Amino acid sequence: MRPNDPNNLPGLSSKDSLMLLRSTAELSFTSIVITDKQHDILYANPAFCRMTGYSLDELFGQNPKILQGPLTDPLVIEKLRRGLKERGFFAGSTINYRKNGQPYLLEWTITQISDDSGAPRFFVSVQKDITQLDAERSTGNLFAKAIEAAYDGIFITSSEGVIEFANQGFELITGYTPAEVIGQTPAVLKSGKHDKAFYQRLWRHLHEGLPFRAMVINKHKNGREIHCQQTITAVKGANGAITHYVSIIKDMTERVFDEIKLQEQASHDAMTGLLNRRRGEFELDTLLTQSDDSRSTFCVLMADIDNFKAVNDTYGHPRGDEIIKVVADILVEHTRKSDKCVRWGGEEFTVLLPFCDLDRATRIAENIRTELAAMTFEDIGSVTLSLGVTESTAGDTPSQILDRVDQRLYQSKRNGKNRVTSENAA
Ligand code: GH3
Ligand code: MG
Ligand code: MG
Repeated sequence: MRPNDPNNLPGLSSKDSLMLLRSTAELSFTSIVITDKQHDILYANPAFCRMTGYSLDELFGQNPKILQGPLTDPLVIEKLRRGLKERGFFAGSTINYRKNGQPYLLEWTITQISDDSGAPRFFVSVQKDITQLDAERSTGNLFAKAIEAAYDGIFITSSEGVIEFANQGFELITGYTPAEVIGQTPAVLKSGKHDKAFYQRLWRHLHEGLPFRAMVINKHKNGREIHCQQTITAVKGANGAITHYVSIIKDMTERVFDEIKLQEQASHDAMTGLLNRRRGEFELDTLLTQSDDSRSTFCVLMADIDNFKAVNDTYGHPRGDEIIKVVADILVEHTRKSDKCVRWGGEEFTVLLPFCDLDRATRIAENIRTELAAMTFEDIGSVTLSLGVTESTAGDTPSQILDRVDQRLYQSKRNGKNRVTSENAA
């Protein structure tokens, strides 16, 4: 027997060959259906019966059209008709219906078996229910689309930390296109604002299999800082080893700045930009506690604009406001960054001078006084300040130190204004 004998398998009789081929069809997971030239079903294998829900008896003599329904694509059926007519072959996909009415997505081929003259004798169809596969494919697509469209930045690195994926949100937040960062490490985003301990904590979390969540200051492509709420999660493979890290970043920069602004509003005087009285009192408490601990002293300066009522009465309240701002600027100009300039009341100010002795504080007060006194305002002429200075002593309470400095300011007023009093002159 020839190995390519079309009727028999090598070394087997026709009967055995037929039996084996038939068994193969019976055992196949792929659905097979054979029709005659009129498309009446002659044979359907068990997989086909399982897929359609019909028994072989029910299918026998039927046209496979019984499986079509409202969602079956007429264009595909038209393509089938033409394909068989022109080439004796068709491959395509559409929706068919099981016996119980349930639709399924079918992918199938039909091959014409011809007689000696080339006319159709049979049609063999091999079919596959791809409903599940398609669902998985479209869920995968859906996830991919969702990740791509997410407003949050998402990027995925390999276990070695090389960026393999970044979405549009990442570009929106960082300014880097995915193409610019794929192949790089997240170090491109490093702002230098976090210390070694921060990164140690990050890796400890990830190595322990815990997600790492923190406010991270990253650097935008244009160099500015971006405050991000960042979550990094390790992804593990089937064997438990880390294969990827997924990072999600949310841009909180605006909110962080809003918070800073709110804090500033709560602690600063809007008109002058100096600390407000509430914050000034808090700073005084802090200084007293610190100086108790360190047994160091600090000084407090208090200033009040002289004859200010007259300025308001003559030149108007808005002009008065401008003068208050000028005085505030002079205070800031003559003090260190670590000193606290406070708008204590309407036209009254205090300055807290840590690590400063009475001599130095008195000199500062004198400089402030002379600077303002030397100014000439075109409309008003000159404006002057009276000041008091005191140094903290061990065991001072806030009210004691404030009373003392207020007394010295009062002394300056009583002695003719436009002067500094730093000693407890009676
Ligand atoms: P003295 O030399 O004794 O300090 O006299 P004075 O006129 O400055 O009197 P006092 O300090 O008692 O009065 C302060 C005045 O400052 C009263 C008030 O109308 C005015 N004032 C308080 N707050 C403001 C402010 O925010 N803007 C303006 N323009 N005026 C203010
Ligand atoms: Mg006053
Ligand atoms: Mg005054």
